[in-house]
Amino acid sequence: MNAYFYTLGCKVNQYETQAMRQMLEKQGMETAEFVLGQPDIGNAVLVINSCTVTGESDRKLRQLLRRCRREHPQAILVLTGCMPQAFPEVAQAFTEPDIVLGNAQRRDLPVMIERFITDGCRVAAIPPHEKTIEPLTICKFRDRTRAFLKIEDGCNRFCSYCIIPYARGRVRSKPLDTLRREVEDLAQQGFAEVVLVGINLTAYGQDLGLSICDAVETVCAVDGICRVRLGSIEPDHMTDAVIDRLAMCEKLCPQFHLALQSGCDATLKRMNRRYTTAQYRTVCDRLRKQFPNAALTTDIMVGFPGETQEEFEASLQFAQSIGFSRIHCFAYSKRAGTPAAAAKDQVPNAEKARRNRLMIEMGERCAEQYAQSLIGCEVDVLLETVQADGTVEGYTDTYIPVYVTGGREGELCRVRITCEQNGCCFGDKTE
Ligand code: SF4
Repeated sequence: MNAYFYTLGCKVNQYETQAMRQMLEKQGMETAEFVLGQPDIGNAVLVINSCTVTGESDRKLRQLLRRCRREHPQAILVLTGCMPQAFPEVAQAFTEPDIVLGNAQRRDLPVMIERFITDGCRVAAIPPHEKTIEPLTICKFRDRTRAFLKIEDGCNRFCSYCIIPYARGRVRSKPLDTLRREVEDLAQQGFAEVVLVGINLTAYGQDLGLSICDAVETVCAVDGICRVRLGSIEPDHMTDAVIDRLAMCEKLCPQFHLALQSGCDATLKRMNRRYTTAQYRTVCDRLRKQFPNAALTTDIMVGFPGETQEEFEASLQFAQSIGFSRIHCFAYSKRAGTPAAAAKDQVPNAEKARRNRLMIEMGERCAEQYAQSLIGCEVDVLLETVQADGTVEGYTDTYIPVYVTGGREGELCRVRITCEQNGCCFGDKTE
């Protein structure tokens, strides 16, 4: 029997999809990524791993379920992920899925499928999160040169716009031994780079008396791994002690995705974020002191309820002053069940779209400036994807996309940067 997977959302979801694929492969199934519009898959299994971070993601999920059931009427349709965990009643009312599974007990997926095949009865299991992290592990990561490695789940913060703590529960961390064994398996599979991910990554270890530094040191100590990259991190977790300790980890990529969300203190307060812009800048300065060519990337939200024109301007100017190498911008999206959704002073959609465009344009200029600063430099590039024109795309340790002629996927090579276009670099291999 075959099983297809369709993953929405973040790197943690992509990791969990990989873990679920391996579980079904152990049961003798062939697994593959599901491609929308592919021919009818018959009575194969189709797992949709959902995201619920915005109202828009729920709308898209609704459409996807209807389309998949229409185009694959005999398929065993499984809905799992954050949407059913955050909104169990809504998910269980969907008529399309045969199996509805939250994100707390993915390891039950094979049993659930077996049960449905046996008695044909619809299965729904959305238990609450356990006190410890679910023991999911991977030993490979399909179609990738870099492996995403989930080391933490849950969040205790409850930012006023965020539904994730309701979908993911409280902070739970992967024990270091489990982590070490997982990375050793990935190194044996030839993965040169590991990206550590979590729901609140830098909260790692709060439940085990450890810190993110322990996880990074453990992964860096594994032979065969050349690069260790961090997923999204929380600014106030990056204390001087943490930064100084991380600076001792030679394999750690000097690229830090430091979620800002807003460059205005009044807005940060309403978002229930745990830092001010002054504290954020101090963390940036410390990172640049300890990691000289560090690249800082970030997430910024515009149009948060109550955001005045002046507050938006302050946010724009602050973000510009940091000199990010990449900014992921998005307009505030009302999320039922969060405090911000109940706020009276919602910003009109047209105004949100205008602010988002201005922030994106500024972000693109910053990305170009950062990429231009690499012209004439020699950098290490991990090659990933051969393009149709024969060039190969790869990434620097600062996560800048680079295109070279010749080379193979997974090759770590030295490149002299010759030019830049739209924030991407082009260069020649020097070895
Ligand atoms: S830190 Fe805030 S934004 Fe991030 S997952 Fe937790 S509640 Fe959501």
